[in-house]
Amino acid sequence: MRYQYPDSFVFYRKLNKPLVRAVSASGSTIIDEDGKKYLDASGGAVVVNVGHGVQEIANSVAEQIRELAYVNGTQFTNQPVETLAAELAEILPGTLKYSYFLGSGSEANEAAIKLARNYWYEKGAKSKWKIISRTPSYHGNTLATLSLSGREHYRAVYGPMLTNYPRISAPDPYRNPNSKGSTGEILEEEILKQGADTVAAFILEPIIGSSAGAVVPTREYYQNVARICQKHNVLIIADEVMSGMGRTGKWFSFQHYDFIPDIMTLGKGINGGIVPLSAVVSKKEILDLLASTSGYFNHAQTYSHTPVICAVGVATVQHLKKNRLVERVADMEGVFFEKLNELRSFPVVGDIRGKGFMAAVEFVKNKDTKEPFARSEKFAEKFTELAFKNGLILWSNVGHVDGTNGDLVMVSPPFTISVEEISELVTKFKQTLEQML
Ligand code: PLP
Repeated sequence: MRYQYPDSFVFYRKLNKPLVRAVSASGSTIIDEDGKKYLDASGGAVVVNVGHGVQEIANSVAEQIRELAYVNGTQFTNQPVETLAAELAEILPGTLKYSYFLGSGSEANEAAIKLARNYWYEKGAKSKWKIISRTPSYHGNTLATLSLSGREHYRAVYGPMLTNYPRISAPDPYRNPNSKGSTGEILEEEILKQGADTVAAFILEPIIGSSAGAVVPTREYYQNVARICQKHNVLIIADEVMSGMGRTGKWFSFQHYDFIPDIMTLGKGINGGIVPLSAVVSKKEILDLLASTSGYFNHAQTYSHTPVICAVGVATVQHLKKNRLVERVADMEGVFFEKLNELRSFPVVGDIRGKGFMAAVEFVKNKDTKEPFARSEKFAEKFTELAFKNGLILWSNVGHVDGTNGDLVMVSPPFTISVEEISELVTKFKQTLEQML
């Protein structure tokens, strides 16, 4: 059977492209129905941190479904939600300790901006509702989170339906290391332009994921951001959906810097890739205010805090802790980047950057001028398709340079990848580049 619209009844995202049917996976390898093996060098969409096919996580879900599959989070608590929150509190810093569980990363970010607004509303600062975000960035695909996201090609069709939140340039150490976007000064200008009494929060990915390509801002940048937000009473929301749960070699990527966000969101790596599970984590001060005013967070969803999704989270976090996989990422960062840096000898490889096991390889037309390929060349798409044929799975992103142009791939393997598999990854990457040139 051909897995392509309209031969199959699946409403695929891409309607004119055939798909391959995967049948099983283990560790960093996925196998398709013809027995072909693929090295999963991106963990899908940077999700499968613990590796594929971890039996103890699978078993915990099966057991939980049999024991207690569903109770509503407003009527009962349950052991998995209590244990998961406690497991997270153990690794969270300061007063950032309280977790609210949801499904996807988009849902978590949508809830996070509502929590920021809810806080200011109950505090009596009712004019504070705007959320400043950055370009490029990605915070999700619901209308509110797409409104926050600096990804022009995703926004184009839905423009009239989006909320017009203010956005500032994200740090860009590769092309514009000294710009106001890269130092953080631009944030204060934007807050003053909007009026500090209207700004509720600034949302950011501390180490930026695929939308900018594993950008690691400077220490000075976050010192400035923390100072500016404190001065103007603006909450900091750290979107750690992609960068969190150990991906960068620390549990949360803000821990590479000197600040603690007021609110943080988690997704992807918290769920082993098994079920949609995400979290909004709040500082105690925010919840104390809600507790002493309205008494609740004005938000709820059918699957919030439910046992099965949280059981997956418990098993995933315990697996990461027991096997010291976050420490492994930090320990292997050197080997990983040393191998990746071999790709710099290719004329189209402009930059290789990142932290831990979150890396990006940026392709350029001209290495000296850093000129990107014209979008019409579809370099990143052609490269990832060819890599797929060669049995290598990467996650591409386009448009980060100016909203249209810019080609990169994320290399973000499971934390369990072996040194031999890292070598195989780079060999297949080189082979694909040679075929492209
Ligand atoms: N935030 C970031 C940083 C992401 O990378 C993503 C997804 O890629 C999201 C939010 C949205 O998460 P989801 O696709 O689970 O809704």
